[in-house]
Amino acid sequence: MSRSVSTLRIADAAPRERFQVHTQRNLAELPQLAALSAAQRFEIEVVSSVLPFRVNRYVCEHLIDWSRVPDDPIFRLVFPQREMLDPEDFAAIAGLLRKRASRAEVAALANGIRATLNPHPADQAELNTAQVDGRRLDGVQHKYDETVLFFPARGQVCHSYCTFCFRWAQFVGDRSLRFASSRPELLARYFRKNPQVSDLLITGGDPMVMLAHHLESYVKPLLAPELEHLRTIRIGTKSLTFWPQRYVCDADAPELLRLLERWVRAGKHVAIMAHYNHWRELDTPIAREAIRRIRGTGAVIRSQGPLLRHINDSSDVWARLWNDQVRLGVVPYYMFVERDTGARQYFEVPLARGWEIYREAMKQVSGLARTARGPSMSTSPGKVEIQGVSELGGEKVFVLRFIQGRNSDWVQRPFFARYDENATWLDELEPAWGASEFFFEPEFRRMTA
Ligand SMILES: *Cc1c(COP(=O)(O)O)cnc(C)c1O
Ligand code: SF4
Repeated sequence: MSRSVSTLRIADAAPRERFQVHTQRNLAELPQLAALSAAQRFEIEVVSSVLPFRVNRYVCEHLIDWSRVPDDPIFRLVFPQREMLDPEDFAAIAGLLRKRASRAEVAALANGIRATLNPHPADQAELNTAQVDGRRLDGVQHKYDETVLFFPARGQVCHSYCTFCFRWAQFVGDRSLRFASSRPELLARYFRKNPQVSDLLITGGDPMVMLAHHLESYVKPLLAPELEHLRTIRIGTKSLTFWPQRYVCDADAPELLRLLERWVRAGKHVAIMAHYNHWRELDTPIAREAIRRIRGTGAVIRSQGPLLRHINDSSDVWARLWNDQVRLGVVPYYMFVERDTGARQYFEVPLARGWEIYREAMKQVSGLARTARGPSMSTSPGKVEIQGVSELGGEKVFVLRFIQGRNSDWVQRPFFARYDENATWLDELEPAWGASEFFFEPEFRRMTA
């Protein structure tokens, strides 16, 4: 229990740990919580009544440094904090729990609060739909021309949950908020009808919670010769942080690795899009062993993750994260701006500050780690990157560009917003020089009408 962060030997990492997760229901049984005060434990209970909470033994025993709680970054990554809820909402839930209100009563109040927390940021549910034969495909989002997102029904949980998750609505039991598909054959059909699509991104939740043979059942139909235009299979996952055992000692770890290898041999580029927030996640021997084994299959690991106040709002943390990744053979890919959902006000970093952190981190790394783009906002029109701050035409401005756009013709065109020290998202920015709107807005309005 008190083993320090990086002493887990691979032989110790028995797969039986897999199901030892703690949620709000069995929170009291988590041994490490004895390190916290009763007030802190109650706060966790209150906030986890509204926001999803789940943590496993690996994270508790090997990633969190309990002597540094509550400031420990990994603790803040998975354990709910009081400030994540609006004070009034916190008080209301706390009141119900103190008077031992029924589960249904707590749930009703929690649902009301969740509805105010923008469960589907960037209009994902309405705008990114995909159709085949005139029927809407569940579990598929298609926003950018070349990449289709697929949400397999079995992959819609994670080994632990991040407190800032933008997919949190999928974990709180509201089925209407979920995207999920259990129909692999429809996905193959969609690719057949859309020869312009080159990339599949399997996402969740975390697809790597699935057994290897389930994952295979989704992908196998996509390896057919007539789908040669599908060049890349990406898997978005936090398993390299939350459960590296997945690749080392889970019962079907060898099968999973062979599966990745087969996709590579079938001529696909296989990319593990690993979600990382802090270099500490890379520090255990088993996390490194998992990286080594994935790379042995021919798959490439790219890393992405949001910039978060309280967790990684420091250029030194990012510089070390990227440097460690390059050393381990992981390619830095994206630094995201925390999205406009859930406990956003707790995590948000102003865009101006985010760009400074990015730039100061870039200054400390070699060109091999400067492959990370960002800070990037995943907005409804597209992924918008803060390229910098400049002085142009007598005005201080943000220089922006689309990394991805709902119209691919928007990509890479610089555009400008009036500098605003406090803005945290695109919708708080005004076009520079008194213009009434950004160049893409008329077309975006037509697209969304
Ligand atoms: C980020 C993202 C992608 C992938 O974009 P890349 O720039 O190719 O990494 C695809 N679809 C959606 C909805 C995304 O947000
Ligand atoms: S791993 Fe991703 S999907 Fe899962 S809780 Fe964290 S942010 Fe959400």
